[in-house]
Amino acid sequence: MLLMDTGFSPAYLPAEPRQDSLLFCFRQNECLLMGDGEEKTIPRFADIALPAGVKPFCLGQVDGRPVFCPDPFSDAEIPLAPGQSWCKLRISKALPLPEAAWLYTAWHLWSWYRRTRHCGVCGGLTRPSAHERSLRCETCGQMFYPAISPAVIVAITSGDYLLQVSTTYGEPGRFSLVAGYVEPGETLEHAVRREAMEEVGLTLRNVEYLGDQPWGFSGTLMFAFHATADKDAPLKLQESEIAAARWIHRRELPPGDNPVSVSCSLIERFLSGEW
Ligand SMILES: [Zn+2]
Repeated sequence: MLLMDTGFSPAYLPAEPRQDSLLFCFRQNECLLMGDGEEKTIPRFADIALPAGVKPFCLGQVDGRPVFCPDPFSDAEIPLAPGQSWCKLRISKALPLPEAAWLYTAWHLWSWYRRTRHCGVCGGLTRPSAHERSLRCETCGQMFYPAISPAVIVAITSGDYLLQVSTTYGEPGRFSLVAGYVEPGETLEHAVRREAMEEVGLTLRNVEYLGDQPWGFSGTLMFAFHATADKDAPLKLQESEIAAARWIHRRELPPGDNPVSVSCSLIERFLSGEW
């Protein structure tokens, strides 16, 4: 269910892995998982043969136990053992719910380290702090902290109907909810109203904040809302972003396809008759 505490605490922790510590391994948009069938698990430290010179790097704790990734500054390829494979990050359906959320938060941190290897001010190399979750430029001293982008997502309803949109950049025919990043100077509610107007040309009523949830897959913190709108008002699609929009009846709405996503939880709440 939506708006959960994932149990992942990314606070800095000087720790060494145990044999059974979780080890999150990534490359580009893929993660290394265990399991030959459809059900996967996250590997443990003992499952992975780290290349020579690649040290484990602590990403924080899950339910009080330290978790790791291979040194995010290393480009060495992690070798696969039998029963292991590189999977698309959207594999989360193959992982139990909390594990999928842990995977996304680990990805959020790992990809931030990868993108921040060089200082954005002077181009020098950065180095992890020895006492907090930050990076410091070795040349000019600039500090960097994990980047989190706030974003809003809104379930827009009109009686028994829910508004869905299909984006121009996502999988063709895949429908989701109106969502977008919060812009500098905006409040969350303003962002919700702006996104609805920009994407589909709708004026929202009864905008209600529901809660928030980390969404490390895209480095965001998602703020979830419900709002109502007039189903008979004309939809004006933002051509650059929205390929299609539809009002779908409660009875015809398929369940969400990614249980860890905020979108899926909002659909569950609509289907349960909450709005
Ligand atoms: Zn610098």
